[in-house]
Amino acid sequence: MKNYIDKTLKEELEKTFAFQLNQNQYQDIKRLIFEISRRQNISTPKIINYLKTNSKVDRQTGRNKFFALKDCLVKLRFPLTSTYKNIDRKKIFLNKLQAPLKDNWTVKDTFRPTTLFFEKKTKGTYLIDNFQKHFPNLKIKQISSLKDYIKNNKFRLSELKKPFVFIVEENRDFLKPCPCTKGHLGCGYWIFNLGFGCPFDCSYCYLQQYTNSAGIILPANLTDFFRQFDKFRKKIDRPIRIGTGEFCDSLALDHITNYSTELISYFKNKNVLFELKTKSNKIENILTQKPVSNIIISWSLNPEKIIKFEEKGAASLQERLTAAKKIQDIGFKLAFHFDPIIYYKNWEKDYKKLIQLLYAKLKPPFAWISLGTLRSNRQLKPIVEQRFPKSNIFYGELLIGKDKKLRYPEFLRKIIYKKITREIKRFDQKTPIYLCMENKAIWRDLGNFQTTKDIETYLIKNNL
Ligand code: SF4
Repeated sequence: MKNYIDKTLKEELEKTFAFQLNQNQYQDIKRLIFEISRRQNISTPKIINYLKTNSKVDRQTGRNKFFALKDCLVKLRFPLTSTYKNIDRKKIFLNKLQAPLKDNWTVKDTFRPTTLFFEKKTKGTYLIDNFQKHFPNLKIKQISSLKDYIKNNKFRLSELKKPFVFIVEENRDFLKPCPCTKGHLGCGYWIFNLGFGCPFDCSYCYLQQYTNSAGIILPANLTDFFRQFDKFRKKIDRPIRIGTGEFCDSLALDHITNYSTELISYFKNKNVLFELKTKSNKIENILTQKPVSNIIISWSLNPEKIIKFEEKGAASLQERLTAAKKIQDIGFKLAFHFDPIIYYKNWEKDYKKLIQLLYAKLKPPFAWISLGTLRSNRQLKPIVEQRFPKSNIFYGELLIGKDKKLRYPEFLRKIIYKKITREIKRFDQKTPIYLCMENKAIWRDLGNFQTTKDIETYLIKNNL
């Protein structure tokens, strides 16, 4: 099916419904028709025919005709939410149609960087050697600093996944509390900011929105991170959960960076739970380590269908579970993240199958399981439309939530969480389940959690 809107649409609408659309009105109608045709796989003429037969549209004239048309299209665009409640029109995000990028870089199954840039200060560090050993044809260039490189090299969105690596010296932002989302219940997580960027290319990835340079940024000065952490522990010495997987994948490049070896050796037996979170199967370094009870290796999971279409370059579901099994067999604790959970036709069947596979392969209890439904800042949607023109996930029933992010409406999130937790609990009563970026009302369904402290205690008490 053609996924563009014909240039004659405005004319056709005005002729068919006998009224003039102003630019904004046309913008809204065009966007709604586009999204309906994408999500329902129906053609524009069919949608117009349906509108023609709608008596509510027929009865109106002038400006009211536009409102009747829009109402009708909103019901078609959000069929489930419309049957549940009246949709506040201010919660619908109708952005301008975006043409797909013509020369977009796509990721390959195996990450093969073409150029490594290193900041002058990192000259001679092991990371540069390791990349050179793995990729003998790699071009290596010295830069004064990443900041200067960014200033002098104009970034184009189509270059986001150009296979570049930057070796830098990180001077700030070593550690920070996870910002979570406004007005929602955080879980008290801390981010160990070891790198930015990822060799995979997930359509929903929020990093796309924050990147101002192609490639992956890796710090060479781990000892500074550890020094900073020592200082931080003097101020906050309660147990915390901390991990590296927020702005990068913790293990995707571990066979080159060896970060995990350094991290495990530094964090082992400290009074913190340190998590390495991945969508890869790069576990070679972990397999050489002795298990430590406060180190947790975790995987983000989704049904294979979603992995294939929305998580380009990442390991398949079977590869992730096989890697997790090897890690569990040598005695490390595991955790899993069902995040983002995507609502689509047959979602329930696919997620149930995923949970059954997980428990067929691995032995509970795990350190934790997190659940989070698809959510994003509005600015991400046009980026995804340009970079992933075949992805339909942003044409799901996403509305602007209380935190101004695009999210499924609360009633739907409650249904999703209820069904998934029920399925998990059929196999496993012990693993603590938590919600990522959710509000108090939704948390209430899971138990008596009022504050971040309650959640932190719940997640930490069984693991330390
Ligand atoms: S709930 Fe999710 S987003 Fe919020 S603090 Fe925890 S990990 Fe961060």
